[in-house]
Order: sequence, then structure tokens, then C-alpha cells
Amino acid sequence: MKEVARKEAIVAEANLEGDMLSVLGRWLEKDVKPKVRDLEHADEYPTEMVEQLREFGLFGATIPEAFGGLGMSASTYARVVEMLSGVWISLSGIINSHLMMAELVKRHGTEAQKAEILPACAAGEFRGGMALTEPGCGSDLQAVTTSAKRHGDSYKIQGVKTWITNAAMGNCLGVLVKTDLKARPRYTGMSLFFVKKSDGYQVSKRLGKLGYKGIDTCEVLFDDVMVPDTQLVGENEGTGFLQTVGALELGRINVAARGVGVAGAALEAALGYARIRETMGKPIGEHQAVQMRLANMACRVSSGRALLEIAARAFDAGQRCDLEAGMAKLVASEAALENAIDSMRIHGAYGYSTELDVERLFRDAPVLSIGEGTNDIQRVLIAKTLLGRGK
Ligand SMILES: Cc1cc2nc3c(=O)[nH]c(=O)nc-3n(C[C@H](O)[C@H](O)[C@H](O)COP(=O)(O)OP(=O)(O)OC[C@H]3O[C@@H](n4cnc5c(N)ncnc54)[C@H](O)[C@@H]3O)c2cc1C
Repeated sequence: MKEVARKEAIVAEANLEGDMLSVLGRWLEKDVKPKVRDLEHADEYPTEMVEQLREFGLFGATIPEAFGGLGMSASTYARVVEMLSGVWISLSGIINSHLMMAELVKRHGTEAQKAEILPACAAGEFRGGMALTEPGCGSDLQAVTTSAKRHGDSYKIQGVKTWITNAAMGNCLGVLVKTDLKARPRYTGMSLFFVKKSDGYQVSKRLGKLGYKGIDTCEVLFDDVMVPDTQLVGENEGTGFLQTVGALELGRINVAARGVGVAGAALEAALGYARIRETMGKPIGEHQAVQMRLANMACRVSSGRALLEIAARAFDAGQRCDLEAGMAKLVASEAALENAIDSMRIHGAYGYSTELDVERLFRDAPVLSIGEGTNDIQRVLIAKTLLGRGK
């Protein structure tokens, strides 16, 4: 009986998720697609769309229902991210690092932190991201120099973070700092704080970008920002680095989903164009050279999606999946880059036109090879994990 009830519950959940995905798909097609080109070219924040994301509950996509979120599995969340990114990658960026911050609080926060932060994140009242990168370090996060020094029952945070997505339009950040600059190994001196804009950090610069427009990416100044010690995630100093890299599994699953979305959009555009553009008396899709490109593009989308599903399923089963998530991130983001350029080639001059979406995909794709660990860092991590297994 219990097994039947469990299966029924899974089917009911799948139906609910199916409904949610079809509503999201219709909204993207009808209300988003027609507006993206203008907003993107104007580098304008999509305020109305963000409000709709909030109404869909997507600011709480992976936050448990007990805290007011949708409690989505990583597999469903990946599907949502793929759908958003297939239309405009910036829309997924608004929820991605926000949900990573929430994931960290969910995993490592105290009961009081969870009770305060998670419902507000799910409702979109707290909107934020992750502040890890600094002017002097990105891949080598243990080289962070932003410091937090204890003063009674508060900490004083001092330093500069850069390339921080959602910093200007959001109102809170997960901030990786050093609480002990001399600790060795370096990561044992690192801690994570949940910091609100009202605590006093300042957005010192908005960064210009090749793509990933509409969404804010900024330099952030922490000039002796005082925060109560209750904002140290998980109460204990020295655990912030391990907390953060643990959450990168979900971060990499989400970048992989974005890659599949962008790669798929580039393929769809190329297929559509190959059917209607004629040269030498026939549609270009009938020329073998174009068919080769289309076939390669389709294989890249499918292989990216297959790896993504393996990683998301492992994550949902509670297994450690850094290898799977790293592989999915690497393959799917390279797929996005290669498909964007192949789609541009298939479109000829029109791929270069600002009146079609292909040029945007070409500008958006590279960020996926940089964020959540560059692709070369993924390669190093994948190889080290495999080599380590043989020991
Ligand atoms: C649009 C955008 C949005 C971003 N949003 C955020 C955000 O919200 N929050 C945040 O904290 N950061 C964010 N970032 C920063 C991003 O995470 C970093 O850029 C990334 O981690 C790489 O760091 P870096 O740019 O300092 O490159 P570096 O670490 O300086 O690396 C430079 C090059 O050296 C290579 N390299 C470095 N070390 C090694 C090694 N050990 N072995 C092999 N190769 C190596 C890298 O692969 C890369 O090719 C964003 C970046 C961009 C472009």
C-alpha cells in the first residue's frame, strides 16, 4: 500500500511540474520572446519579467516547501533553467546565483537563519547572489583577501568583490571572506556571511559586458561593513570555503542547463533557416556541408542534456556529483559556444545581423565557459578525480 501511495505521490508531483512547465513555456513564447531583442540591445533590466518569475514562485524553485519554496528537484529545476535560457539566458541568471545563496543557507544555516532567510528568498523579498570573485582572484578562491574581523558580537567586513551578478538590483549577498588571513591550509580561515544591502555594502561599479545583458554584474565595496555574528552562515568560522564549493555542484548543474538551452536555441534557429534559405536552386539544408553542421549541433545538444540529466539525478539522489556536474557543465557550455558559431555560419550574413537572435547567442555563450569554474578548471578537476580513483 505504502509503495502505491508513494508512486501516486510521484505521479501527482510530475503532473504538477508538467503543468508548471507548460505555463512557463507559453509565457516565454508569448510574452518574453517578442521583447528580448529590444531589452537586450538596450541593456535594460527586465523588471516586468522578473516580477512574473516571482509570481511563478521561481525565486523559491529549489527552496523546500516547508520554507515557502516550490521544492523542485534539481532535474526539474534544470529543465526550467534550460527553458529560460533557450529564450534569454539573463532571465535564468536572475534566479541562479540567488538560489545558490539560498542553497547554502538551506544546507549550512542555523535554524534561525533558515527561518529568517529562506521564506524571504522564496517570496522574492530577499533577492541576491554570490560574492566570491575579487579583482585579484576568481579560480583561486582561497586567495580571497576580503576580511571579516570580530568586534564583540559583530564582524567588520572589509574588501572588494567584483563580477557580482544581481548585486545592484538585488538586496543581499552570500559573501566569502577570510576570518583568519594567516590560516594554513588557507581554506581553513574562510567563512561565509549572509549580508544585506541595508548592512551597508555599496555597488561601486556596474561592469560593461559582451553579452549576458539586461542583468546587472557589478563591483561591490565592503568598507567596514558591520554585521551581527548571527549572519555568519552556520555559526562556525573556517567552514565557508567547503560550504561554498559544495554548493557549486548545483551551480554547475545550472550552468549546464543554461548551456543546453543556448545550444538548443542555436540549433533551432539554424534548422529553421536551413529549411527556407535557398542557394543553387535548393534549400541550404539540402547541401551536405550544412547537414554536417546541423548533425554535429544536434549531437552536442543531446550529449549536453544527457550529462546534465545524469548529474541532476545524482544530485537528487543525494550523491556526491562534482565529477558529473563538472562534466555536464564543460560539455554543455562548449556545446553552446560551438553551436552559436555554427548557427551563425549557417545564417551567413544574417547571423551577423542585430535583427536576428543568433548574434545574441554568440555573445551570450562565452560566459558559460567562465562562470562556476572556467572550463579549463573543470578539465583539471575531472582529470584529478579520475586519477585519484586509481590510487
Ligand atoms: C558575466 C559574469 C558574471 C559573473 N558573476 C559572478 C557572480 O555572480 N559571483 C562571483 O563571485 N563571480 C562571478 N563571476 C566571476 C567568475 O566566477 C570568474 O570570472 C571565474 O571564476 C574565473 O575567474 P577569473 O576571471 O579571475 O579568471 P582567472 O582565475 O584569473 O583565470 C584566468 C585563466 O587562467 C586559467 N587558470 C587559472 N588557474 C588555473 C589552473 N590552476 N589550471 C589551469 N588553468 C587555470 C583559467 O581557466 C582562465 O583561462 C562572473 C563572471 C562573469 C564574466
